[in-house]
Amino acid sequence: MKKTPGGIFSITVLIYLLAGCTTSNEGNIMGLSENEIETRLDKLPTSLTSGDLFNTSILEPTQLFDNLYFVGYVSVGSFVITTSEGIILIDTMWTPYDAEHVIVPGLKELGLNPEDIKSVIVTHGHSDHYGGAHYFEAKYGATILMGKDEWNYIHDPKAPVLTDPFGNFSTEIPLPDTYTQVTDGEIIRLGNANLTVLATPGHTPGGLSLLIPVTDNGEPHMVAVWGGTGLPDTKEENQNYLHSLNYFQNIANKKGVDASISNHPFSNNLIEKMNALKNREFNQSNPIVTGNKAFNEYIDNELRINVKNKLSSFK
Ligand SMILES: [Zn+2]
Repeated sequence: MKKTPGGIFSITVLIYLLAGCTTSNEGNIMGLSENEIETRLDKLPTSLTSGDLFNTSILEPTQLFDNLYFVGYVSVGSFVITTSEGIILIDTMWTPYDAEHVIVPGLKELGLNPEDIKSVIVTHGHSDHYGGAHYFEAKYGATILMGKDEWNYIHDPKAPVLTDPFGNFSTEIPLPDTYTQVTDGEIIRLGNANLTVLATPGHTPGGLSLLIPVTDNGEPHMVAVWGGTGLPDTKEENQNYLHSLNYFQNIANKKGVDASISNHPFSNNLIEKMNALKNREFNQSNPIVTGNKAFNEYIDNELRINVKNKLSSFK
């Protein structure tokens, strides 16, 4: 039977229901009562708290390529790169709770061993990306890889304080004790893996974007991860964002990018693509590989138009 879009939607909903929601006080690392959590969340706009960015339904852990996996919520997740010498984790979700109760069980469900995590790349310094980093450093001895400006940003008392879906303030989230600085253009190597790190400030002062060589049933592809999608507040930050976007697109095209993924899976259709992947027939191509043209359309028609519109509002 052919799958209709409605059928795919139902599967998505079913996955959410089967996986269940994480209740907010379970993920509150300060142990606040539900009332206290509600008081904090009530201060946020409803468009945020009822939107995708606060949707903590767990998605089914999914293998995207031979050597790349996704674990996480609808709102945000982690990518897992397997290599001949261990695992590289990209981003760590909101909290140590997420690390322990979503990422680690997700890895196990995929047949991977969390003890193999050697490095954790934090794309940027918002708590939905670095929240579990300290957990992996403390529990598995993972090396935390970040840009220097971003390391400074997560320690900057003047940086905006974010509230997460569990009512934690970002200032309450434990930070990694140490980090290894990565710089623009650096190749991160572990075993047979080598991924390119690009400094793309804008969304935050020192964010990173990534180009990841993968294989699909042995066939090579190049996956792009744009590090921070949401637009920043000031004119200067948005100018940096646009500059970084142009730079990222240029290098990504030189490296032959033919797939693009976001660790906010509700954006860039990752959830739909993962569902299509589960229903993929043996002779079908990988739905995440949408080609170089589609990558450029995403950059040109969504990300660049958005930032240009915002920049024009400053004049
Ligand atoms: Zn962010």
